[in-house]
Amino acid sequence: MSIELKDIMKVIGHSREKELIKKYLDKNYLAYSFLFEGRDCIGKKAVALQTAKSFLCETEYNLGCGECQSCKLVENTILSIYEDKKDITTHPFIKIVSPENNKEIKIDQIRDIIQFLKLKSKTGKVVIIENAEKMNIEASNSLLKTLEEPPEKTLIILTTSNITKLLPTIVSRTLKVKFSLLTDEEVKEILKIKGAVKKNIDMDILVSLAEGSLCLPEKILKNQALFNYAKDFFNLLISKVNHIEGIIRLAELIDKLEYEDIKVILTILDRYIYRKTLKGKISTELYERFISESKLLDRAISKGVKKKLAFEGFYFKLVS
Ligand SMILES: [Zn+2]
Repeated sequence: MSIELKDIMKVIGHSREKELIKKYLDKNYLAYSFLFEGRDCIGKKAVALQTAKSFLCETEYNLGCGECQSCKLVENTILSIYEDKKDITTHPFIKIVSPENNKEIKIDQIRDIIQFLKLKSKTGKVVIIENAEKMNIEASNSLLKTLEEPPEKTLIILTTSNITKLLPTIVSRTLKVKFSLLTDEEVKEILKIKGAVKKNIDMDILVSLAEGSLCLPEKILKNQALFNYAKDFFNLLISKVNHIEGIIRLAELIDKLEYEDIKVILTILDRYIYRKTLKGKISTELYERFISESKLLDRAISKGVKKKLAFEGFYFKLVS
């Protein structure tokens, strides 16, 4: 990945949120518990690490001086995450916890945090819990005790895209920072850093599909074929004649994909068709039919109906 260190350090977007965090940090509390709330893939973790940098900086420069040993180690930690580098020294006083197998945060992980917070550190310790709504009930209760009496010089940041799934008692013990979606300009800037310009895909289309979050553009950049399949399907759909051969060929390709990839194609189509509907290029009736039929398609595929057949059926229902 061609992300430049200096670009990550800037952390694109969220100036209002960063300002609010800075105001809190200026209060010099003995310990902090933050809850960063907002959609997935908008940069909550990057801001969490930037906050960690400020908190742990040896010179107390409010954005992290970038020069001291601690700041350099936080920057290493950020790089190791973004570039998946396992061999660089990460910060000894930052612990990042995320759901195991993307499913659940278990009590053992919270016990590890409690042990970690017992470490001796001159500048402090930082814990980042990603997708905190995935803590199971034992983990939540265990963390609650720590939030009620956090050790001194600790910064705990929970991030979530679904605050309603967190225990209200946890929510009430945190300083909440609500994250806005990224603007189109910010999405574009981040996509440039991620090397999107080198790919053969229209930046404006990527930005318009983003809807303020990088989840979908990142999936498209990882597997551009998904975007092409969606585009082919769309062209078949708006064509005035039934393209039986075209849809059979496309369905054969789609048949080889994983369920998650098919969901990406449907999301691309949904956002694309929706935009065309707004511009009056596609009828609302067709968009509504697309929505209901794609739900049926999703259900059929998740129940094990052959993807090829399901996708062909989906097309014919839409064009009939
Ligand atoms: Zn520093």
